[in-house]
Amino acid sequence: MPLYDYICQACGHPFEALVRAATTPVCPKCGSTALQKCISSIAPAGKIEAIRMAHRRVAAAQGHFDHYSPSDKAKLLQGKKNI
Ligand SMILES: [Zn+2]
Repeated sequence: MPLYDYICQACGHPFEALVRAATTPVCPKCGSTALQKCISSIAPAGKIEAIRMAHRRVAAAQGHFDHYSPSDKAKLLQGKKNI
C-alpha cells in the first residue's frame, strides 16, 4: 500500500494517507475528496518504522504473515489456537 502526500483543495489541509488502489482518500479535516496528490518525498527516518508497523498491522488484520519472522509467526499461530 503506497503512502501518498495530499493537499486538500477545499481547505488546504496537508496530510498523508496509505491508499489502496480501489479507495479514495478524504481530507481528515473537512471530508472533501478534492485532493491534490503529491509525490511523497523520502520518508523521514523516524517515520519509516511507523509505516512498517502500520503495514504489519494491516497484514495481521488480513491474515497475512509475510512481514513476520518465523518465530513471530509461530507465536501468532499459537495465540490463535488458544483463542
Ligand atoms: Zn479539507
